[in-house]
This record gives sequence, C-alpha cells and structure tokens, in this order.
Amino acid sequence: MERLIEGFKRFRSNYFEANRARFERLAGRPQHPRYAIVTCCDSRIDTTRVFDAIPGEVFLIRNIANLVPPYEPDQHHHSTSAAIEYAVRVLKVGQFVVMGHAGCVGIRALLAPPSEPTDFVTLWLQMATPARDWAMSKTDVSDEERQRSCELAALKLSLNNLLGFPWLNARIEDGSLQVDALYLDLERGEMLLYDRQNDTFAEV
Ligand SMILES: [Zn+2]
Repeated sequence: MERLIEGFKRFRSNYFEANRARFERLAGRPQHPRYAIVTCCDSRIDTTRVFDAIPGEVFLIRNIANLVPPYEPDQHHHSTSAAIEYAVRVLKVGQFVVMGHAGCVGIRALLAPPSEPTDFVTLWLQMATPARDWAMSKTDVSDEERQRSCELAALKLSLNNLLGFPWLNARIEDGSLQVDALYLDLERGEMLLYDRQNDTFAEV
C-alpha cells in the first residue's frame, strides 16, 4: 500500500493543489460528463490520459477486453449494461465510444483459452466467440495478425451489441447521441477510427 499512499500524497500536493478550484466546482454539483467510453481493464490503457481529458469529462466503463454484451434485461447482474444505461439515460452523454486496443490479453485468452478453469473470465469472453471464429478461420496469417483481426472483430461486435440497446438507439435517432468505435495501438502510438458505412478502420 505504501506506493499507493505516497502516490496519493504527491497527487494532493501537486495536481490537486494546482486544480483546487476545479475540484471544488466538480464536487459541488452533479457530474455531467460529455463522453462515455467502454475500454479494457488493461493497466497499460490510461484512457483519460490518452484523450488528454480532465476529471468530470469522461464516464469510463471498464471490463475485460472492452466488450459490450447484448441487450439482455433479465434478472442477472449486468455491470457493463448498467453503466451503459446510466450513461445514456441518466447522464445523457453526447458521445459514446467503444475503444479496443492492440495486444489485448483478454482477446488472447479468447483465441487460446487457458487450461486453468475460471469462475467468470471464460464465460465473459464467450460473448465474443463469433469474432474468435472469424479470426481463427483466417489462413496464412501470423499470430499477431490473427490477434489484431480478432480485436477488431470483437470491437465491431461490441459496437453492434451497443446499437441493440433500444433507448440508446432512440437517442441516436433523435440526434442527441453519437456512437463510435476506436482502436488504440500503444506500441505504434496510433488510434484508428471505425467507419461503419465502409466497414474500415482509418488512422485519426
Ligand atoms: Zn485488453
């Protein structure tokens, strides 16, 4: 814990002190983020830093492999869907983003499931099985290319699932919400934006 506590103290004496007025303003009123982003739990993906965002700007939803599950309003516990609903129906964000990334360990586990059984992880990743099957059907590709193909396919699948949430779609239709998919490659320092019309990814 020492490292974390020391880190907090540095944050308090540097960043917090330099932005004290902004934090007081933020804490004194309800949050009103403009963006909601579904991103991976991966510790290397520092989403707010990647977008140079400030506190209060991004409603961040993290899970393994940045997956959006299908719209399934049943009696089970749906962490990601609950956060999506809150962002769209309560906070009324104006821009929703699903962001995938290169070198995703979750996607790697989807492509090559570990022999050790898991209580939750394997079942969670199973929702991206169509992306896995598509990537596995490719011949003459390197492991790295297969991984990237699967990451991009899983991202498109998540975007499609997201568009299946009825109240989210209603807000797209009334023009108050935009939805996009991005793909971050930290090694190359690249961000790709998905073009739904043409089914292509292009560097921003
Ligand atoms: Zn990941």
